[in-house]
Amino acid sequence: MTQFRCIDNCLQIGGVPLTTLATDMGDRAFYAYDRSVILKQLDKLRQELPTGIHLHYAMKANPMPEVVNFLAQHCDGLDVASGGELEVALASGIDPKLISMAGPGKSESELALAIKHGITINMESEGEMARIAVLAESLEMRPRVAIRVNPDFELKASGMKMAGGPKPFGVDAERVPQMLRDLAELPLEFTGFHIFCGSQNLRGDAIIEAQTNTFELAFRLARHAPTPVKSLNIGGGLGVPYFPGESRIELSGVSENLEAQLQRAKQELPDAEIVMELGRYLVAEAGVYVSRVVDKKVSRGETFLITNGGLHHHLAASGNFGQVIRKNYPVCIGNRVVSDQHELVNIVGPLCTPLDILADKMSLPVAEIGDLIVIFQSGAYGYSASPHNFLSHPAPGEIFV
Ligand SMILES: *Cc1c(COP(=O)(O)O)cnc(C)c1O
Repeated sequence: MTQFRCIDNCLQIGGVPLTTLATDMGDRAFYAYDRSVILKQLDKLRQELPTGIHLHYAMKANPMPEVVNFLAQHCDGLDVASGGELEVALASGIDPKLISMAGPGKSESELALAIKHGITINMESEGEMARIAVLAESLEMRPRVAIRVNPDFELKASGMKMAGGPKPFGVDAERVPQMLRDLAELPLEFTGFHIFCGSQNLRGDAIIEAQTNTFELAFRLARHAPTPVKSLNIGGGLGVPYFPGESRIELSGVSENLEAQLQRAKQELPDAEIVMELGRYLVAEAGVYVSRVVDKKVSRGETFLITNGGLHHHLAASGNFGQVIRKNYPVCIGNRVVSDQHELVNIVGPLCTPLDILADKMSLPVAEIGDLIVIFQSGAYGYSASPHNFLSHPAPGEIFV
């Protein structure tokens, strides 16, 4: 992968040889995130996207406090999806006005925490609005609220659809006008709309279409708003390439269309800040997951590298995080990046389940026990999206370099 250097045949993360990081982490498998790669990705976005776009970080992609603190300094805001994430976001020292909270099923204590700190709550239902109004009265505060809209269109060709049709997320677009009328009677400060269509999209044309529809919908709904829209969160959706044949998304068309939408928004929503919230796009490529070869064996003609890490640390790379067909993430042998001797191997973890696969029939440099297996594109939905307790092996380490 092109985002990391290789010196003396050893992968470098944040300028540190992988072998050094591995020694520091002891016997554990671990995740390492390279801050310079995150920064480059952000710089690229800021260069390519129109200047009026505010970039927020969706923390659930990688909630490691060091990563969040770093992005709190370099992004324009944070989006949290739980009370736990909110605690980490607040601890970063960011202005709470720049934090928003989304997610269905927010508990009373999560809502109360959000209200006390004055963060924006993206309301996911009419019932949630009623609960917030009750809390507002008992806390004697005026919560900042936006409506998360479940749009009447879909993001095409998306890895993960989050909108259109019946969904647990947001309020159906056709019910939003009534909700806005009800909101006007409550002790709530209306800030705007949040319209998030889906995740992991690599097709510029699909994103352009969804973004155009998103602005269109926001313009329509704004006519029913009790006060001017101050913020329109158009979601994210930008994907990263994980599998063979995928390539990085082409942003120039997306950017051109956004510029045109921003011009229209100046007329239709003159007070609104336009926000994009991105998770994986900011952090996925900056992360690697590293495990060590513990055993090497041959079974009926196939070679297996067995490592001290696997599905319990990196569910997505094992193909069990929502994928329909299992495909290999990009992999290298971190201490033996290039070699003139290759072999076909299966890389598996130590779990007693056939699901524990990190790479299936991959051609890699001939590896030995003790070598470091690197899974690229692992900075998002890795550590925190994996079932560490399954089989009671040690949890992976995490390091921000
Ligand atoms: C998960 C999520 C995101 C981030 O999605 P990515 O694919 O990681 O960019 C953004 N907004 C909301 C509301 C989410 O739930």
